[in-house]
Amino acid sequence: MSSSYNPYQTAQRQFDQVADMIGLEEPLREMLRQPMREYHFTIPVKMDDGSVKVFKGFRVQHNDARGPAKGGIRFHPEETADTVRALSMWMTWKCSVVDIPLGGAKGGVVCDPRNLTEREQERLCRGWVRQIARNIGPYTDVPAPDVMTNAQHMLWMLDEFEQIHGGRYPGFITGKPVGMGGSLGRTEATGFGVIFVLREALAELGIKPENTTASVQGFGNVARYAIKKYQELGGKVVAVSCWDSKDKVAYTYRKKDGVGFDELTAITDAYGSIDQAKAKDLRYEVLPGSAWLEQDVDILIPAALENQITKENAGKISSQVKVLAEAANGPTATEADEIIKERGIFLIPDFLANAGGVTCSYFEQVQCNMNYYWGKEEVLEKLDTKMTSAYAAVSELARKQKVYMRDAAYMIAINRVAQAVKSRGWV
Ligand code: NAD
Repeated sequence: MSSSYNPYQTAQRQFDQVADMIGLEEPLREMLRQPMREYHFTIPVKMDDGSVKVFKGFRVQHNDARGPAKGGIRFHPEETADTVRALSMWMTWKCSVVDIPLGGAKGGVVCDPRNLTEREQERLCRGWVRQIARNIGPYTDVPAPDVMTNAQHMLWMLDEFEQIHGGRYPGFITGKPVGMGGSLGRTEATGFGVIFVLREALAELGIKPENTTASVQGFGNVARYAIKKYQELGGKVVAVSCWDSKDKVAYTYRKKDGVGFDELTAITDAYGSIDQAKAKDLRYEVLPGSAWLEQDVDILIPAALENQITKENAGKISSQVKVLAEAANGPTATEADEIIKERGIFLIPDFLANAGGVTCSYFEQVQCNMNYYWGKEEVLEKLDTKMTSAYAAVSELARKQKVYMRDAAYMIAINRVAQAVKSRGWV
């Protein structure tokens, strides 16, 4: 990601384009192109060596007209207010496109948890909650994990919130450990969700999944479960690319007769990096990181980072590719969209394709508020139903109005939020 890339400008540009297409009235535009509320605060943390460090924290609530705001908390050394703003806006559209009764928010702390001890991380989590506890909660704004935050962080945050408010509020935060209010199926939800919508797209295009091949960027949580589900449908993944933490570059691992899910998982570390030497032993070809995009496959699944398909490399996509399923957030640069459109590649846009995660978080919140928990099959079945109907609505609009799938998804999402804002009499 280049340092000039400002995600908030991108989010606003995307919004403005669709607002023009649907002729959104001025006050609604003004309301929806920026967050409703922002909190910027300092978090003093007592470090293990006795010193005190002050961290910068954020919570941004973009819009809560359709229900309590929802969104993760990132711990990242390069976190900025604009990143959090953009992500909060995308959360609003994501919850809206899958039609779950939630708004959009995002939070963050400028820090590098890799340089903090576990005790320091706990104090930071509790400190974040102390500064914002009055402005978030199960019926107002529900946080979740994101980049470099995990289930343990969520549990510390929940505990602090409950200490402050004096009660048990498991629906305050999602992404908790299973058995402590977490939902079964959450680990699989995003990756499986990507394949539920891919399955629908292939059916519409008249393509049998068992006759297809795919290339995937990433081998982390999302990519892995997407690959697992896709292979269950009979598809063959021929290449997987991931970051090599030793060499500090990305590589693509290719096996033309299909990568083995279990064998690759066994040689992958907790950060989604595949062990190169062991991969070579298993007869994988090791190619440059960019090679995943250039394979002769039917389906491309970017599931790693933003800004990966650009106007510089989009031309290298094979003419065999029929579907691009965006599992990562923002993997395709705006200028590359034009090339994807021209080439007639069918796109499943990110905030639809990867909405399985937030949908399952919503299920977690519902189960917590009921204090009654579903089995895994029930969770995944409900997830499939939600993703399938969201896909159907977007693709129907795209066909009817002859618009690009990304635009159709935005049109549905923005219209629903605009309608809620109007119905409440806010504008
Ligand atoms: P992760 O950290 O588990 O995995 C990321 C993977 O990307 C790793 O395998 C890593 O090696 C690889 N990677 C990093 N840099 C790379 C590069 N330059 N080239 C190739 N591979 C590279 O992350 P994740 O949770 O799987 O998330 C992946 C994407 O999906 C992100 O964009 C994230 O925002 C998005 N997303 C995640 C969820 C979720 O529930 N986890 C939900 C919605 C969206």
